[in-house]
Amino acid sequence: MEKELLNKKTCGWLKISNDVKEKIFNFCDGYIDFLNECKTEREASKYIIKQLENSGFKNIYTMDTLKKCDKVYMLNRDKSVYAAIIGEENITCGVNLVGSHIDSPRLDLKPNPLYEDAKLALFKTHYYGGIKKYQWTTIPLAIHGVVVKPDGSKTEIAIGEDEKDPVFTITDILPHLAGEQYEKKIGKAIEGEDLNVLIGSIPSNEDKIKENIMKIINEKYGITEVDFYSSELEVVPAFKARHLGFDKSMVAAYGQDDRVCAYASLKAILDASESKRTMVAIFSDKEEIGSVGNTGMCSQMFDLFMNEILNKKNENTPGALNKTYCNSIMLSADVGAGMDPNYQSASEKNNSSYIGYGVELNKYTGSRGKSGASDANAEFVAKVRNIFESNNIKYQVSELGKVDLGGGGTIAYILADKGMDVIDCGVPVISMHSPYEVTSKYDIYSAYEGYKAFLETNEK
Ligand code: MN
Ligand code: MN
Repeated sequence: MEKELLNKKTCGWLKISNDVKEKIFNFCDGYIDFLNECKTEREASKYIIKQLENSGFKNIYTMDTLKKCDKVYMLNRDKSVYAAIIGEENITCGVNLVGSHIDSPRLDLKPNPLYEDAKLALFKTHYYGGIKKYQWTTIPLAIHGVVVKPDGSKTEIAIGEDEKDPVFTITDILPHLAGEQYEKKIGKAIEGEDLNVLIGSIPSNEDKIKENIMKIINEKYGITEVDFYSSELEVVPAFKARHLGFDKSMVAAYGQDDRVCAYASLKAILDASESKRTMVAIFSDKEEIGSVGNTGMCSQMFDLFMNEILNKKNENTPGALNKTYCNSIMLSADVGAGMDPNYQSASEKNNSSYIGYGVELNKYTGSRGKSGASDANAEFVAKVRNIFESNNIKYQVSELGKVDLGGGGTIAYILADKGMDVIDCGVPVISMHSPYEVTSKYDIYSAYEGYKAFLETNEK
């Protein structure tokens, strides 16, 4: 009786078969490799395109017409990717969409980064996304990105990952002398202008350290100081992604928000079987700063991709794009907050996610009185439940922390604004936005299975 009446939440690892456990662990080995290869949106885009092409996806601009089972992608300025598998039905019947983001919180170099101070050489940074600044000191850092010269030639940089590479770091005051710092509020203890990266200490023969470091950079990369103007260099943790725990049940790594959902949805569209409906995956950029700009979800670039599909399927009559959107369904594939045993007071235990309890659905996001929320309607939640329950996918429904404590959002509202039914669906994370985020392998695999079942569904 109790079993039928009450919603008993159980751990996904309970009574799991060895076969399934092995599948989950193997899947996450691939995920860990992906994290180590892709620490920026550019690297993730490159990886995603390679995987898509290996699976027969073609650049949409190389196709004149599209028909059932054709696989296409669009790469937007090397930073975001849209991919689709054309279904049997008309596009205007709507698509099944899973959308994640591949940018993560980090420190960007300023346009004039290089300086010397107190006999040392440093880079100035400007943080990107919501970080707790104190977490970025005294850890090994790597630098990834591109420098583009006025003639268009591009130098790619990734230093700090190889065992033989040097790393970089941001220093912090020793406890012996931290009296003043201890008096400050934690948010002010390390300020934005304190996030200066230590990059060298040997001066030239004329005792000029900045010049000497620039000389080394020039010899290695062929760039001069003015070339930093046209660069995008991102400072990221140099840690490797690792198995976490004696049972190796978790993943610890930088950038899991939201490359965990990006990887799970990439694998889902690669493995999805044919469907009546067209399947679409989005890997967007700039989510961490509001989805703005021409690689962010708010831009018209995704509309362009969908219009190209409609054109090439000869379906692009007036209003076709709107009709497509209004008939489409979407999982906004982004991470949620897992219950942290050290900070339980930030969560309301009946409505928070527990890592290892399955992929998480957030009916709504937003803050305070649901301000800025993308709130999925009950009918659509029921539809997603049906997809998950009929495919034996373990899921939990939660929200982000206690009421009035904070809040957050994803790309969900942007697609909901276009008329789609959208719900947030992703992997719960502990220590989100930190340099070392924690996820459960069980949830990562549940997300993959959930995304795949959603993409394959034939119900409108
Ligand atoms: Mn996210
Ligand atoms: Mn985030």
